[in-house]
Amino acid sequence: MGARVSLHEPRRAFAFTDGDKGSLERSASGGAFAALARQVLREGGIVFGAAAEDDGLVHQISIRSAEDLSRLQGSKYVWSRPEGTFTECVEYLKEGRTVLYTGTPCQIAGVRSCVEKSELTEEQKGNLVTCDLICHGTPRNELYQAYIAWLSKRHDADDGIHSYRFRTKEYGWGLYYYYYYYFRNGTKHEVRGGAGDDPYYFAFSRAAIYRHACYQCRYARKERMGDLTLGDYWGVRKNTPEAYDPKGVSAVIVNTHKGEDLLLKAADGCSITEVPYEKISEQQTNLNRPSRRSMEDEEIAKQIELRLKSGNTDDIFDRLLPIDQGRNARLRRMLPPFLLKIIYRLRSNA
Ligand SMILES: Cc1cc2nc3c(=O)[nH]c(=O)nc-3n(C[C@H](O)[C@H](O)[C@H](O)COP(=O)(O)OP(=O)(O)OC[C@H]3O[C@@H](n4cnc5c(N)ncnc54)[C@H](O)[C@@H]3O)c2cc1C
Repeated sequence: MGARVSLHEPRRAFAFTDGDKGSLERSASGGAFAALARQVLREGGIVFGAAAEDDGLVHQISIRSAEDLSRLQGSKYVWSRPEGTFTECVEYLKEGRTVLYTGTPCQIAGVRSCVEKSELTEEQKGNLVTCDLICHGTPRNELYQAYIAWLSKRHDADDGIHSYRFRTKEYGWGLYYYYYYYFRNGTKHEVRGGAGDDPYYFAFSRAAIYRHACYQCRYARKERMGDLTLGDYWGVRKNTPEAYDPKGVSAVIVNTHKGEDLLLKAADGCSITEVPYEKISEQQTNLNRPSRRSMEDEEIAKQIELRLKSGNTDDIFDRLLPIDQGRNARLRRMLPPFLLKIIYRLRSNA
């Protein structure tokens, strides 16, 4: 049994954009995570987060140097396996190190519970800072692995799919564009597309393929597990236009004094503006309730489970999961990339 850990009431909220423009480009949102991580690493601490590996799986890993930070940047739209990271975290705290553990709220509940029931002193426990994400939900890692294998087969790739990224900013922030590359007969091929052009990503976006528990998530609420909560500040252009940056604006919710201390230190050289909590929460369903899916997607999810059990996984992406056939999506697919880029650039700067 894990130790019970309490939720925190949000105290303050901020719009945040990283001052390091190179780092901002690698972040899904406004780069708040990277700024927080750099601060902890500068002070000799350890940072835990999600990394996508070439084995087609996403794992929670620890880093101790800013050179490895890019491995944790960007959103991976799949459950990230915590494996032994909760006990690893306890070991670092025992050494007197500061640890920043970032992840979904359920992962933060797990690590806090593990630290709470450990034999660490209160002072050592106090060196853990946690940061949760505003989370839609996460698909099973087995599904993501099957998807990467399907892509590899479909492209007849020499040695799998490399560097899959769900949210590149090539077309701007918030436009869900993926990128990956592969080799065929030794020649590199790069692939880019919008969320609606891909069966896995389109299903993720409409909340069709999360793990069962995500639809009853007890952490999809205002009170938070983390000392800090990160998400996208979607309403920024309307609510806080002075904080808008076309390369991304994070919503940072401060839930504890410890989180506030870290954020204010990390904000040096970054753009930070305090905003009322409601300005952020009004655009964020998952700060109020778990995601929902349609009856039709419920049925598709059952079929996916059967395919995963039988090993007939190509069928999931060839037949069960459609791509977006809406008018806008079809129109967008017809436009050449350079024109699309111009349209999006004009829109994000308007
Ligand atoms: C599955 C998922 C669903 C999300 N849903 C929403 C949402 O509904 N609304 C919203 O505003 N924001 C959502 N986010 C958060 C958002 O996409 C950004 O991750 C967040 O704003 C941080 O962005 P950043 O620019 O600060 O840092 P980035 O560099 O983009 O984020 C990196 C951070 O995200 C963590 N991370 C990435 N993928 C995972 C994963 N699979 N599991 C655990 N941790 C992960 C990394 O460990 C690191 O801490 C979601 C993120 C994920 C992973």
